[in-house]
Amino acid sequence: MPDKIKIATTSLAGCFGCHMSLLDIDEKFIDLVELVEFDRSPLTDIKKISDCDIGLVEGAVANSENVEVLRDFRKHCKTLIAVGACALNGGIPAMRNHFTLQECLEESYVDGMGLDNPGIPDDAELPMILNRVYPVQQVVKVDYVLPGCPPPAEMIWNVLSALLEGREPVINARDIHYD
Ligand code: SF4
Repeated sequence: MPDKIKIATTSLAGCFGCHMSLLDIDEKFIDLVELVEFDRSPLTDIKKISDCDIGLVEGAVANSENVEVLRDFRKHCKTLIAVGACALNGGIPAMRNHFTLQECLEESYVDGMGLDNPGIPDDAELPMILNRVYPVQQVVKVDYVLPGCPPPAEMIWNVLSALLEGREPVINARDIHYD
């Protein structure tokens, strides 16, 4: 039996909606797990990535940990796919780019409604928040992008199955939607 294709997935500054869309391929997910082995992923809870064939990255790049994880994915994945609008163009997380980081932190932790103990967190353990939110391809080279919020399950399946069969994936504009 041939070796299984290794896939890693991660959510940077994302909402896990793109991961939910991957799970929405329903019974095809059974076909998928016959063909692939999941490495680092919220689906496996493996925390450290090893060498993989395909990496799926959801979410934008908003803090130093996102940068580190993304660079690690680029280093270890032969094919890197940016999944969803946040990965592609910053999406919803990039809405904060209209304000300074300080304004965002003050609104969230000092001036926001219903705060019990106002104060901007500054624990050394916390990842450093970047001044701006970036799409993934502004930080590393990506091989494919899947638009949509989230990309439909069918689109994810079509791209994955093409790559698994060694075909060039085709992304149809009519499959793109933003729920
Ligand atoms: S693209 Fe949409 S579904 Fe995917 S992480 Fe961003 S907000 Fe969530």
